[in-house]
Amino acid sequence: CGIIGYIGPGDTGRIVHQGLKNLEYRGYDSAGIALTGETLTLAKTAGEVDNLTAPQAADATVGIGHTRWSTHGEPTETNAHPHTDCTGEVAVVHNGIIENYEALKKELSEQHVFQSETDTEVIPHLIEIHLADGVSLLSAVQRTTQRLEGSYAIAATAAGHDGIVVAREDSPLLLGHSDDATFIGSDATAFIEHTNRVTYLESGDIAHLTADEIAIYNGGERVERPTDTLDWDA
Ligand code: GLU
Repeated sequence: CGIIGYIGPGDTGRIVHQGLKNLEYRGYDSAGIALTGETLTLAKTAGEVDNLTAPQAADATVGIGHTRWSTHGEPTETNAHPHTDCTGEVAVVHNGIIENYEALKKELSEQHVFQSETDTEVIPHLIEIHLADGVSLLSAVQRTTQRLEGSYAIAATAAGHDGIVVAREDSPLLLGHSDDATFIGSDATAFIEHTNRVTYLESGDIAHLTADEIAIYNGGERVERPTDTLDWDA
């Protein structure tokens, strides 16, 4: 339903938590946050964002958050996003539906233990497999999306890997740019109190976001997307 992501200075947990508050108007049944640095710190709730204590992690360099409107699996804490892999290092938030998740889950279940009933959870397990091959988080997400059918906006992080990788197919996703930080949102409401400078990602785009650089790819090629300035009261 709603996605927020943050790379920048300050209290990442609190900024992501506020982003989830901003997204509440969309409606949701559960919520969660992952902070990632050398380790992964998770907080999830089956209820309202107010029930979620903003996590603290001294080593966190990035954060992602999600308000869920469940399509596959009850609105429980376990089914709330972010979802993780077997190593507990990969975190993924997802809007949309992975249409072929049953076939993927069947294939992966031979070697991977699934915790949730969601369609989403196949994504962190696929990323885990590619990371184990020694590729970057960007390549792991690129290879993963090649297996996915359906609609998605996803944001993925992994402990020990720099930044956030986002991908979108049909579901909306945009970036926000302030002087010292980068934001991810399913809509601009997620971060509009911080910046009105935005980049809309196009369907098929995959972007690697770090504190230093934003690199957007489509079909394996580096692409440029324009930066727009929104009306503050939009
Ligand atoms: N299909 C996913 C789920 O049920 C994501 C739903 C959403 O967009 O919030 O967990």
